[in-house]
Amino acid sequence: AAAPLRPAAATASGGADPLAAYRITREPYWRPVADEVALYEAAYAVRMPMMLKGPTGCGKTRFVEYMAWKLGKPLITVACHEDMTASDLVGRFLLDAQGTRWQDGPLALAARYGAICYLDEVVEARQDTTVVIHPLTDKRRMLPLEKKGEVIEAHPDFQLVISFNPGYQSLMKDLKQSTKQRFGALDFDYPEHEVEAEIVAHESGVDRETAGKLVHIAERARNLKGHGLDEGISTRMLIHAGSLIAQGVPALSACRMALVRPITDDADMRDALDAAVTTYF
Ligand code: ADP
Repeated sequence: AAAPLRPAAATASGGADPLAAYRITREPYWRPVADEVALYEAAYAVRMPMMLKGPTGCGKTRFVEYMAWKLGKPLITVACHEDMTASDLVGRFLLDAQGTRWQDGPLALAARYGAICYLDEVVEARQDTTVVIHPLTDKRRMLPLEKKGEVIEAHPDFQLVISFNPGYQSLMKDLKQSTKQRFGALDFDYPEHEVEAEIVAHESGVDRETAGKLVHIAERARNLKGHGLDEGISTRMLIHAGSLIAQGVPALSACRMALVRPITDDADMRDALDAAVTTYF
């Protein structure tokens, strides 16, 4: 049988590390929240596919980056979207001057050479996309490349991780039970007050007192979730606000721009949130 085709980068440089671009060389900042690091390590040790559940902007992506670094494994991240097809994950034939050439998609690359593959917001992708991950998430650990007529046996280092926001769950946007049951799951949420303030201060450069005020504002907004707000103010948004304040932007303007305006167009809701901001700044 012919040797499997390698991605262009690998053949051109004569067997260079095809995952070089995906290695994380600097330690990402992760503030442990509970026992998530130990649990993830145990899951990786048995190569359990993992599902990280929680609202947007609460640390799921950062956590998987940190774990990939800690485990010394490359990380291939795919932001899933509704136009994504199975070929976008698995790969496709490309036409170039030399003729047709197969190009591994991110999932094939991770499975072939041994990376952690993180499919961010996997429910956004079409159903046929979730079906291609099935054979990778059971004992078979393989990925059929139907168009190419090849079956990749996953590298021992390969692990699949998906993220999932249960808040967006609807009849249209939910994972099938047959998919969910293949994964172990870790719940993520906005951390408790002191921890979140520590994270916001670290990431944005504002002092702890200001960070604490930002977290108070977020907590108020989170209480309005389901009462006019679809989603609360996330840790990511607090870091945005903090970064503006650290740049010298007045706190009121920073909070309006980074916390209030992005999440609601409703005039009454904006007033309510602006009032929460003025309580603290
Ligand atoms: P998600 O993937 O859940 O949408 P992210 O991982 O992008 O969210 O989190 C947004 C930001 O929040 C991160 O870039 C990081 O700065 C910060 N963050 C949240 N939780 C933590 C944590 N426990 N330790 C360090 N940073 C965190």
